[in-house]
Parts: sequence; structure tokens; C-alpha cells
Amino acid sequence: MNYERNLSHKKDILIIDDTVENLRILSSFLTKEGYSVRKALNWQMALTACQAILPDLILLDIMMPDVNGYEVCQRFKNWRETADIPVIFVSALDDVFDKVKAFKVGGVDYITKPFEFEEVLVRVQNQLALREAQKEILTLNAQLEERVQERTSELENALQQLRTEIGSRRELQSKLLDIVLHDSLTGLPNRVLFIKQIEKALDHAKKDSSYHFAVLFLDCDRFKVVNDSLGHQVGDELLIAIARRFKESLSPFDTLARLGGDEFGILLENITDIRMAIQVAEKILQQILNTFYLSRYEVFINASIGISWGKKCYEKPEYLLRDADTAMYRAKALGRARYHVFDPGMHQEAIQLLELENDLRRACEREEFIVCYQPIICLSTGKISGFEALVRWQHPTRGLVFPADFIPVAEETGLITTINIWVFQTACETLRIWHEQTANKNLTISINLSPRLFSKSDLLSTIDKIIYDTQVNPANLELEITESVIMENSDAVHTILQQLRERQIQLVMDDFGTGYSSLSYLHNFPFNALKIDKSFVKIMQENQKNMGLVPAMLSIARSMGMRAIAEGIETPQQLAQLKSLKCDFAQGNMFAIALRTEAAFDLITSEPIW
Ligand code: C2E
Ligand code: MG
Ligand code: MG
Repeated sequence: MNYERNLSHKKDILIIDDTVENLRILSSFLTKEGYSVRKALNWQMALTACQAILPDLILLDIMMPDVNGYEVCQRFKNWRETADIPVIFVSALDDVFDKVKAFKVGGVDYITKPFEFEEVLVRVQNQLALREAQKEILTLNAQLEERVQERTSELENALQQLRTEIGSRRELQSKLLDIVLHDSLTGLPNRVLFIKQIEKALDHAKKDSSYHFAVLFLDCDRFKVVNDSLGHQVGDELLIAIARRFKESLSPFDTLARLGGDEFGILLENITDIRMAIQVAEKILQQILNTFYLSRYEVFINASIGISWGKKCYEKPEYLLRDADTAMYRAKALGRARYHVFDPGMHQEAIQLLELENDLRRACEREEFIVCYQPIICLSTGKISGFEALVRWQHPTRGLVFPADFIPVAEETGLITTINIWVFQTACETLRIWHEQTANKNLTISINLSPRLFSKSDLLSTIDKIIYDTQVNPANLELEITESVIMENSDAVHTILQQLRERQIQLVMDDFGTGYSSLSYLHNFPFNALKIDKSFVKIMQENQKNMGLVPAMLSIARSMGMRAIAEGIETPQQLAQLKSLKCDFAQGNMFAIALRTEAAFDLITSEPIW
């Protein structure tokens, strides 16, 4: 059925009654009251009227032929469009009117004939008002529903957006976390992640006594040489290749991490005893021996490995790594390219090292050092040409400590700066006194200069002040510098060396041949002399035929206009060989060991000739 709504503002009332008289009376009254009234004599007419326009109210007679009022009402109530239209039953007083039935079939009220117009009006008005209110409620409900739906869909959209946002944030977060926990060069876990993994393993071991693990600390031997000589790009390429090679020696369950620089860590899980960890270390050491074919170079490298066994008594994962690190240092000290398993005694040694550091700090404050002087002999005259100042530590309980036992720690801690400046000052003071008290005004003093001093911005002014205070002739001063200083080839080092030369101070390249300097570097710097390391002098004697590399070193010095000083002469044969090779100067225990100031002075005054 296609119903139409009443669109005029007048309320539309449909009266259904088979009695024409009734229809007439009611309709004229209601029309007068301002309603639009339509009439139907039976069900058929009523239906047609409703199909034309839906009324706002129906007044329905009960007693009608064919279809009675109850039936009509029920039919209207059964149809969706008409179901809400209020129906007021109309009944004559003498009708048998079943009010209960009237309400049951959906009637809302009833009026009786003869009509009390006032009453009819009130009832009609009430029902129309009720209906109106109902409609309004329905509209409001519909609007509300619509709004709720709108808001719901808005919320759903917002929720969806939020989900997308959370998703992308999570992704970003995990990417960031990935960056923070991995090494950018090799893509391997970094130290932070590695410690976390060890922590997990440690927790596991504490809960499950059948679970064992080990931590390996790997450090490439002489990696710095590659970096310094071939450049960082090649160094990076090599690190990536090393990481790949390490990985090949491991099972997928093991963790390989890059701990920084040329250091790597391996966490071996699900192993039964230390021998399995040793096997892995041996395999790695074997693997790494094979040549690395990089894009432009073929490189050989070695590694030293420290192993610590994952005992559950470890309190912190860092301690396991520390112990593996300590064991790795021991492997290096024992000759590199090997592994070493940590034992608790090593920890004790590490503590001793710390004590040494503290002692050394105190020694600097209390000036517990002395300078000894070892003569340097001019081989053409056989006379002393000068002395090398060599520091010793007068330890309050340990006695005299030699440089090898404290210089490395002093270098590491930076204490070398204080010590070295003090040696320089003392040596200058001594030279000044010797010059005053002897005839030999050309006597020189050589002082070793730590690479550390070159990063001291006031190095030159400190040297100037000491020279000024002690009134020594800078031309009698020689500074011994090792190759590592010029390896940096930095402008700063260049400038400092140049300025030292401008002051007439002599520059000596110390321990020549033991470092990794290229000759082109050497050429760039203003050295006056090369000091051939004692290891070459030693080999010279063993290798009588070609005398090792010493002749070549002497010819390098000569061709570059530098003097040559051979170090570590212990035997007359060595001396004879060096003389035959026309080496300029020599120094060694054969002439004299490093002597206390007084003994050195006695040597000067006794004027020995070799
Ligand atoms: P260096 O500068 O190469 O000094 C030569 C070292 O060789 C000295 O060891 C010297 O005693 C030793 N030596 C000399 N002749 C012989 C010999 O015939 N046979 C043997 N086996 N050894 C000989 P020392 O005094 O123990 O010093 C070791 C190193 O410590 C020095 O090597 C130097 O690099 C460093 N050093 C010493 N004093 C100072 C200092 O005041 N400042 C700095 N920065 N380093 C110093
Ligand atoms: Mg020296
Ligand atoms: Mg030397």
C-alpha cells in the first residue's frame, strides 16, 4: 500500500460509522473545531481514505455490518503504516460494548453516543496531543539514533586512525630499537643487546642446572695497522668480512655481536662443557687465517680470543664479558692469534693493575721518579756524544720499577704527561749542570716524548719555559718520538715538529722499524736522526751474512740526510759490525746501562773511548 501523510497543518480525522447521521453530526462539530474531517461508511471506504492520506486520528464505530469496529481496528493495527494512528471507539449507550476488547485490539479511548461534544473534543484533543508527542519522541529518537550512528562512525573512524597511528608508531619504535641495539656497519647486535642476551642466558642457567653457556671476547690483532695504512674504508670492509667469517663458524643458535672497533663477542648456548667453547675458538682462529679478499686489497689478520664460562654464580652479565675481555688480553700478552680461558686469578691481576694506577697517581704527586742516563757513543771518535734520559720509578715498597712496568699504564691514564714533563725538566737541569762542570759543551740529552704529549695544547710553551728556566741550549736537546706519532700525519703534529725544529731542537725517530710508518710519511717530517731498534741489532748478529735489515735502514737514513743511532749494543761483535757499516752512533749495555746522575757524570769526566 502506498500511504500518504497529511501535510496540511490541520489535523486530519477519519470517522468510520455506518450511520450517516452520526457521521454528519460528528464531522460538522469537529470541522467547526478546526479539524479536517473525512468520513467512511464502512471498512472499504476507510481503507481507501487511509490509502489516500493517512489520518492523524480515527473515530471508529463498533457496530457496523460486514466488518465490525474491533476487526477494523485490528486490521489497522496490523499494518505498519497505520499501526500508530490512535483509534477512539464510538459506541451507543445501548450497544454491548466490550471496553476490554476495545483496548486489547488497540483502541486508545472511547466515546459514547449521544455525543457530549465537550467530552468528544477533550478526548480527541488528548489523543491528538498524545500522538503528536509520540511522533515527536519518535522523530527525536530517530534523530538521536542518527546522531549516535554518526558519532559511532566518527568514533570508528577515529579508532581506525588511532590504530593505524599506533601501528606505524610501533613500527617506528621497533625500527629505532633496532638501530639502538645493532651495529650500523655490520648489522650485528651491539654491546647493549649482547649484554641483554648474556643476562637472559645467565637467568636461564640459574633456573636450569642442565643449561650451560660461554662468552667469547674477540679482538683483531693489529687491526689498527690496516686502518692506519689502508684507510678506514678498507678497515670497514674488512670488519664486515670478518663478521661474516665469524658467523660462518657458528651455529644459528649462537649470538655474534660487535662490541666496538675491532672487538666482537660471541654467546655460545646449549653447550655441555668448556671444551665445546674452545673448539669454536679454535675453529674461528683457523678460519680467520685465510686471506681476506677485499675489493682492492688482500689482507691477512689474526684474532685473540678470551673465553669465560657462564657460571651461574655471576651476579651481572657485564662481569662475564669483563672476564672474557681480561682473558682476551692474556691471549694477546701470550703472543696473540690464540685463545685463553679466563680463570679467577686474572681478575686478581686486573685488580692489581688498578692498584698500580692508583700508586702511579700518588707517585706523580710525590715525585717518586728518578732519571737515569745511558750514554750514546759517536762511533767515528769512540767518545760519548750524549745521553738518553730514561725514567725509573722509585716505588716505596717495590723498589726500582722500570718503564715497561708502568709506562703503558701511565699512557693509558694520561699520567704520562706529568711524568714526561718532569723528566724533560730534570734532564734539562742535569744537562745545564754538566755543561757548567765539564769541558764538553756539545754534550746532548735525548728525551723520550710520549705520543700523548702531542695532544697537549701548551706543549710548546711548556718546553719553551723549561728551556728558558734552565738556560740550556736547545741545539743540545734531542726529542725521541715513536712512529705512532707521525702515523696520524695530522697537521697539528706537523706544526709542532716544525716549531721544535725552528727552536734548533733535534728530532729523533725512535724504535725505527718496529712501527708501521710508511717511508713517505717519514719523508714529510723534519727528523734529524733515526734510532734503529735493538731488535734489529740483535738479529744482525744472528744473521751474519746479510746483517738483517740494518744496512738497509742505514742507507735510508743516509739518503734522507739523517744520522743513524743503533740501540741495544751488547757485544763487541755488534759494535764491530756497526762500525763496518759506518753507523754514526751507538747505545747499549756494552758501553753502559742507564746510570744514576752521579755515575753518568763520572763517566763523562773519565772520558772513556770505545
Ligand atoms: P727506548 O726509548 O727505546 O729506550 C731504550 C731502552 O732500551 C731503555 O729501556 C734502555 O735501558 C734499553 N736498553 C739500552 N741498551 C740496551 C741493551 O744493550 N740491551 C737491552 N736489552 N736493552 C737496552 P728502558 O729504560 O727500560 O725504557 C724502555 C722504554 O720506556 C723506552 O724505550 C721508552 O720508550 C720508554 N721510556 C723510558 N723513559 C721514558 C720517558 O721519560 N718518557 C717516555 N715517554 N718514555 C720513556
Ligand atoms: Mg728512546
Ligand atoms: Mg728505542
